Amino acid sequence: LKKVCKMDNWLKKRASLTPKRMALSYHEQNWTFAELQQAVLETCTHLVGQKVQTAKRVAVLGNNTSQLYFTILALQQLGIEMVLINKNLALPEIEYQLHDANVDLLIYEDEFQSKLQPLKSMTLISLNDLHDSISADASSFIKDEFNLDQVTSIMYTSGTTGNPKGVMQTFRNHWSSAIGADLNLPVTAKDTWICAVPLFHISGFSIMMRSLIYGMNVRLYEHFNPELINQDLLNGKGTIISVVPYMLKKLLSLKDSDYSEKFSYMLLGGGAIDRKTLEICKDSNINVIQSYGMTETASQVVALNLADAIRKLGSVGKPLFPVSLKIKGATKPNQIGEILLKADNITPGYLNHSAPITNNGWFATGDLGYLDADGFLYLKSRLSELIISGGENIYPLEIENVINQFPNIIESAVVGKADSTWDAVPVAFIVTDSMINLKKLTAYLTSNLAKYKVPKKFIVVDKLPKTHNGKLQRKKLQSQI
Ligand code: ATP
Ligand code: MG
Repeated sequence: LKKVCKMDNWLKKRASLTPKRMALSYHEQNWTFAELQQAVLETCTHLVGQKVQTAKRVAVLGNNTSQLYFTILALQQLGIEMVLINKNLALPEIEYQLHDANVDLLIYEDEFQSKLQPLKSMTLISLNDLHDSISADASSFIKDEFNLDQVTSIMYTSGTTGNPKGVMQTFRNHWSSAIGADLNLPVTAKDTWICAVPLFHISGFSIMMRSLIYGMNVRLYEHFNPELINQDLLNGKGTIISVVPYMLKKLLSLKDSDYSEKFSYMLLGGGAIDRKTLEICKDSNINVIQSYGMTETASQVVALNLADAIRKLGSVGKPLFPVSLKIKGATKPNQIGEILLKADNITPGYLNHSAPITNNGWFATGDLGYLDADGFLYLKSRLSELIISGGENIYPLEIENVINQFPNIIESAVVGKADSTWDAVPVAFIVTDSMINLKKLTAYLTSNLAKYKVPKKFIVVDKLPKTHNGKLQRKKLQSQI
């Protein structure tokens, strides 16, 4: 019989351990942990007033507001599974997720009312109405303990390679993730973590969970406002910030003097970053911790520490303490294969289908990479984006990195085209800011890459297909070859 593992309710515990410590800052408002608990409990009373506690699962949709923050924590207090909806989705995409997750109650922020209007057979509760609504005693519904194997959040993957998948995340997943991150880079009571990444992504949600577990302050931003955040970093209003590549580049383009001495580091994840950007960070004395993780691993599982940042430029680092990692089929360093993971971070599964777990309990990430002789991980590509040409493996990113160095190329995407002789050949989509001489480009690539890696065709496009969080969707280009 499986033992049920429980912990004290994290918010209750945190509020009793450090009631006076800062928990949340939003615009000009601040909450200590005692005040945060109070605000969340009040939200619980409104949710119970609306009988939300009878639902097994509830969806939430909104900007990163304090109201959304309280609502997410309140649903967790009531032990309700919440589906976090990406606010950038179009209505049919939202409908797909609501249907896939089998939810019939959606709590939303007023801004999204008109978008949601056509939704039929769905109970819609606006956050504003919620706070105006009747409240009822919620105390008997609030969990004294969290069952670590219970699902608390459900989050859809970014949809980079296909339809987004609903990932179930348990308390244990979030716990292991927070502990792994803290064992690597301890967060102190003096730290304030800037959260301008969405709460509906694991990047933002994990900051909330860390805040409860570490007793750390979060400075929340409604959305990514680069000018404001740049100012706040210059003024020392945050010591740590989570960023994805496009946010980092945007902040670098604005930074006009040194960040405050209090500033500690940027945690970078979500997608590949180019060498040039990392070198600019180094020259500007911005500490960047590269990390690797996915929705299925409840945030980072691999991170590159500052001490190794330059020596191992291009690597995403080493597996965190609670994480085991190996490369499928590799018998020695530098052999490329699928990245396999074992950790308490890993999802128990997707909604409506199981997670890819091998017989020995390894989670198959679908990402290809290798470990160098010192145990540092390098990502190569997604398994599904690998091009095999005449038996040779071609990694799109490697070719794109070379193409992007050619003058007047803004960005590029390489995909495989079926070929009767070679099975597949690489084809490049390029975005340029002026006319490009394709002969010169081919000559340049031929002198920098093995012949089989040089794209056989170039297609100039205005822009490349990307997910809402800026990830290149190579698969979408396949139909345009
Ligand atoms: P989908 O699974 O729907 O195709 P997705 O995999 O992009 O979307 P996420 O869970 O948001 O959804 O992203 C995780 C993926 O992002 C990883 O599997 C990996 O491919 C990529 N990734 C994460 N960190 C990095 C990084 N530091 N460098 C390059 N790629 C990264
Ligand atoms: Mg994925």
